[in-house]
Formats: sequence, C-alpha cells, structure tokens
Amino acid sequence: MSRTVLVTGASSGFGAMISRSLAGAGHVVYAGMRDTTGRNAQAVAELADWSGRHDRSAQAVELDVSDQASVDAAVARVVADRGGVDVVVHNAGHMTLGPVEAFTVEQIAAVYDTNVLSTQRVNRAVLPHMRRQRDGLLVWIGSTSARGGTPPWLGPYFAAKAAEDSLAVSIAAEVARFGIDSTIVVPGSFTTGTNHYAHAGHPADETTAKEYDALYGDMDDLLARQAGLAPADADPGEVARQVAALVDLPKGQRPFRVYIDPAQDGAEEVFRVGDRIRRDFYRTLGFDDLLRPAT
Ligand code: NDP
Repeated sequence: MSRTVLVTGASSGFGAMISRSLAGAGHVVYAGMRDTTGRNAQAVAELADWSGRHDRSAQAVELDVSDQASVDAAVARVVADRGGVDVVVHNAGHMTLGPVEAFTVEQIAAVYDTNVLSTQRVNRAVLPHMRRQRDGLLVWIGSTSARGGTPPWLGPYFAAKAAEDSLAVSIAAEVARFGIDSTIVVPGSFTTGTNHYAHAGHPADETTAKEYDALYGDMDDLLARQAGLAPADADPGEVARQVAALVDLPKGQRPFRVYIDPAQDGAEEVFRVGDRIRRDFYRTLGFDDLLRPAT
C-alpha cells in the first residue's frame, strides 16, 4: 500500500537515505529541507534527478523545523496535494561536540530546539490530520545515546535526544486511541555516511573550552575510539532500510523500537528493561490498550 510520507531533515544523511528508501518501496515522499533555493538547492536537484531516473515519487518540500510557519506551510502543501499525511519521519537533528560547561545557555536551547521542539512543531501540524483520519504513523529517529554507554563531550546533544525519546514514548500512548502508531528507530553512532559529526556545533565560550582541552587533550581521539567500536562494514543505509520495512508492516504489528547499533553500546539492553517496565506499569494501571494503536 502506497503511503504519503513527510521526512524532516532530508537534505543529507539518514533523511536523504530514508526518503529514497521509502520512495523506492512505492511511497509518495515529501523530503523536508530548509533553504531549498540556497544551500540545499543541490540536494533538491539530486533528489529530483534520482526520482526521474528511478520513476519514483520523492520531491523536496521547504521545511525548516525551527520555524512553525515553515512547518505549517510544508504540511499544508502535502495535505493539499494528497488529501492527508500517513507517515511522518522525525529525522532532523543537530549534534554538538565539546564540554558542556563551555556551551552558552542559548546554544543549548538551540540544540533542544532543533532536536526536540522541532518534533512538537511538526506534530502539532500533522496530528490533527492523523487524528481525523484515525490512522497514521510517527517514526522517530532517536539514538542509542539516550541510554547507552555514552562518552563525554556530547552532553547537550545526548540530553536533547533523551528528551526527544521521552516525548516520543509519552505521545505514543496519547495518540494510540486515535489509531496512530509510533516507532522509535534507535541508531548507534555512524561516524561516516552522514554530516552528523562533520556539522557538529562547538562551544561558543572558547576560553572555558580551552581549559578543558588542556586537561583532557585532544578529544578527537575519543571520536576515533568511538568509531573504532563499529565494524568497518557498518552501513548507515541500514537505518533507511529498517524504516522502509517498518512502514510496510500492518498497523499494530510494528515494533515499538528498532535498533541499528553496529557498535553495540548497550542502549538496547537498557531500553528493553525500560520498555518492559512501562508495559507492565500500563497494565497495572489498566491502560493495556494504549500499548498498541487502535485498529
Ligand atoms: P546529518 O547532519 O547528515 O543530517 C541532519 C539533517 O537535519 C540535515 O538534513 C539537516 O539539514 C537537518 N536539519 C538540521 N536543522 C534543521 C532545521 N532547522 N530544519 C530542517 N532540517 C534541519 O546527520 P544524520 O543523518 O546522522 O542525522 C539524522 C538524525 O539521525 C538526527 O536526528 C540524529 O540525531 C540521528 N542520529 C544520528 C546518528 C549518527 O551517528 N549519524 C546516530 C543516532 C541518531 P541542513 O543540511 O539544512 O543542515
């Protein structure tokens, strides 16, 4: 069954791969990107070229997740074209590298904005349509960093991904009776194949950062160690394939989480315990039905 899908942050990395993977599976994909006529014009053209060559339906739509008007316009365009929206992939995100103290409060607020508040903007635009349809799927691109063996120097980003995960868990139960499904995709670290590490933000307070650098040395070494944990053939494309696979599953049979963690940082173990406790607690409260979307 062909579905109408909106992907955020689709100019590069997982978002670009997910857009192609879903269009390749026969879905109608709107690949949300900001600055489609400027910095991301090339990504727009590449997607159009890919769609033409493969005879698939994937097109870019202007979507800056930091701007409610932009989000609303993108969703309105999809709904005008297609009459609704079936699947949203919350993928846009931004990482930081550096000791937490050296980031200004404004910088950390911006990290939360891109990784957490962005999803609220998109949800407030799409959920009214999905609730009316009594159908839909929210796919959240989470991270093992919300629970796994997390190294230092990534604090603001890790905190934001943990907040995103927490919102995803709560919202899943709140939309279930409207027939809306949720899956949290949990990738481990992929240090190549996306712009995640290359485009990371750095602390504005360089004086403080230098005091940390003097004691901790070159933390690039830490990233190399992190990268060294993953097998050489770790393929970020697997994230996109897993998203396409779960979208094609029938409602009610989709997993609550999907793990793609070549480095095995331990997050899966912790998430599994947390999710079991949540299920048990819902049952204790008599909320069993909230664990699956109404069908
Ligand atoms: P990329 O940097 O390649 O992709 C991030 C995407 O988010 C880009 O397309 C970027 O657009 C977009 N984006 C950032 N801010 C905005 C905004 N305000 N409006 C619209 N789009 C925006 O990295 P990844 O592909 O790795 O990251 C995708 C997701 O995967 C993120 O949520 C990240 O947290 C998650 N993730 C990544 C992991 C990894 O190791 N790579 C591991 C676990 C999770 P632009 O080009 O315009 O900046």
